[in-house]
Amino acid sequence: MAKKAFKSESKRLLELMIHSIYTHKEIFLRELISNASDAMDKLYYRTLSDENLAFNKEDFYIRLEADKENRTLTITDTGIGMTKEELEANLGTIAKSGSLQFKKENEKLEDIDIIGQFGVGFYSAFMVADKVTVTSRALDSDTAYCWEAEGTDGYTVTEVEKEAVGTQIVLTLKPNTEDEKYDEFLDEYRLRAIVKKYSDYIRYPILMEVTKSRPKEDNKEEFEEYKETETLNSMIPIWKKTKAELSEEDYNSFYKDKFYDFENPLSVIHTSADGMTSYTALLYIPAHAPFDFYTKDFEKGLQLYANGVLIMDKCAELLPDCFRFVKGLVDSADLSLNISREILQHDRQLKLIAGHLQKKIKSELSAMLKNDREKYERFYQNFSRQLKFGIYDNFGRDKDLLKDLLLFWSSGEKKLVTLSEYVSRMQEDQKYIYYACGESIEKIEKLPQTELVAEKGCEILYFTEDVDEFAIQILREFEGKEFKSVSAGDLDIESEEEKKENEKKKEENKDLFLFLKDALGDKVKEVRASARLKSHPVCLSSDGALSLEMEKVLNAMPNDQKVKAERILEINVSHPIFQKLAALFAEDKEKLKKYASVLYDSALLIEGLPVEDPVAYTNHICELMQ
Ligand code: ADP
Repeated sequence: MAKKAFKSESKRLLELMIHSIYTHKEIFLRELISNASDAMDKLYYRTLSDENLAFNKEDFYIRLEADKENRTLTITDTGIGMTKEELEANLGTIAKSGSLQFKKENEKLEDIDIIGQFGVGFYSAFMVADKVTVTSRALDSDTAYCWEAEGTDGYTVTEVEKEAVGTQIVLTLKPNTEDEKYDEFLDEYRLRAIVKKYSDYIRYPILMEVTKSRPKEDNKEEFEEYKETETLNSMIPIWKKTKAELSEEDYNSFYKDKFYDFENPLSVIHTSADGMTSYTALLYIPAHAPFDFYTKDFEKGLQLYANGVLIMDKCAELLPDCFRFVKGLVDSADLSLNISREILQHDRQLKLIAGHLQKKIKSELSAMLKNDREKYERFYQNFSRQLKFGIYDNFGRDKDLLKDLLLFWSSGEKKLVTLSEYVSRMQEDQKYIYYACGESIEKIEKLPQTELVAEKGCEILYFTEDVDEFAIQILREFEGKEFKSVSAGDLDIESEEEKKENEKKKEENKDLFLFLKDALGDKVKEVRASARLKSHPVCLSSDGALSLEMEKVLNAMPNDQKVKAERILEINVSHPIFQKLAALFAEDKEKLKKYASVLYDSALLIEGLPVEDPVAYTNHICELMQ
């Protein structure tokens, strides 16, 4: 009979499986059992809404049968089964979820460790079997089909007889080699141990006929063997077990398996509540952001179970947006099984649970911040943007929840600090929390605008992310201290004497500054003697709510409405360049205009803003250099 070819990427994965030297080949059983369990979930779900489907609890099971003579291991389930088309589509191509994710994130399929961590679904059967036969009869179908493949050169699908709905997979195990004894997968003890290890929580019984022995009826001194069907798994989902029963390894491997991560989570939250709403939640804080986390493709949500039965894979209502990185599940006995999505959105129980979980997540993160700073910084590296967006979102609705979780680089401490650490170190007469914006810590270090604040001995927080200043504007203050940019028009940091001195300088050079302002036209709102510059010649500052940094961010967004911050060109009157300007004001006003233009463009460059006319700028410089 003619064979059908595998899709090319399936073939690659298949080849990898067949030649795998992966040492934990036993995971193939976990994968097949998990597929069987999913198939039964689907059928179970159908029975909830379809009265014509009469099933009993006993009708749902998975059966393992080892046949040593024929070297076959058979896995039978009573799930929803597959039609002919489904057999071809599902087993002839790499399926969605696990395997695809695995492929996307790991271009090098050679990385064999990934196999164990992600699971590769059905194809993992080919790690231990050289022939795989899948017989399946779908619900609502009278005919059954048999899919069979030996190696990579294709598969066949034929019509066969099968009495019950469900799927049966027969693995013909590979011959033993020197290193690999594949017939271990026919051994009762081995199979039982593998099921216990990986599939204990599966909520359907995994049955196997095992050999036992008992004293003989007629002679109690002697023993006889007999066969008995045993349920190998405890059927208790991991989240229903107590913390004492579970090891870190249990929690971690469940996470990696269930949520397709290759890295252990940073934190596990396992919590239950009784009373108004009773539920159990198992939440994980991942160690890294998924590749699509900051795109609109990312879908937040927790798995929702009603008494152990999965009713929704990503229930968004359970997770606040600010903590959308959290993975996990909630199991509640109070939810109706065939609850619809629309109802869920308005469900009071759900809102209550979501509220509790938000608090739990917050306190988990606070504890991490307090007790394991290094770990928290790892978390923060991945998810700081999310927290800051969280502050900014919904006009600051969640700002009080999130503000203690923020960290910023401190000029004084040379490390990330919390806002409350900053405030605790503030000088007695210091009014503001000072910050400076820039692309990187290195660039901010060099900003002329920081000079005065630094000289006054105030710590400066470095804002290096786009969202920082927006979040801080929503936050407005922390513990009664307002935030102030070192580039703000009015720093309000000078002593009374200094203020007077500045006023004097301003007055003395009034005409010069007015001339410079006129020369620059509406590029600037004002040119003034700088109070903040100590050694540098010029800088820009801004008046009003919109800072230069925010102007940059907003104008980088894809829309036509461009904004412009109110710029002030500040000149250091103690710098030698100022004497030159004063001299030109008396002698050569035309040349002074060019100076003004060069100084303004230089200030733009310092700010990382584009110079409007780079050619004119260069020509001016050269002219002045000649
Ligand atoms: P995944 O489980 O990650 O989707 P698999 O390769 O393990 O990938 O399975 C592919 C698909 O084949 C499944 O999504 C499911 O639709 C179908 N399938 C696999 N095993 C069974 C089974 N025992 N009963 C019904 N459908 C199954």
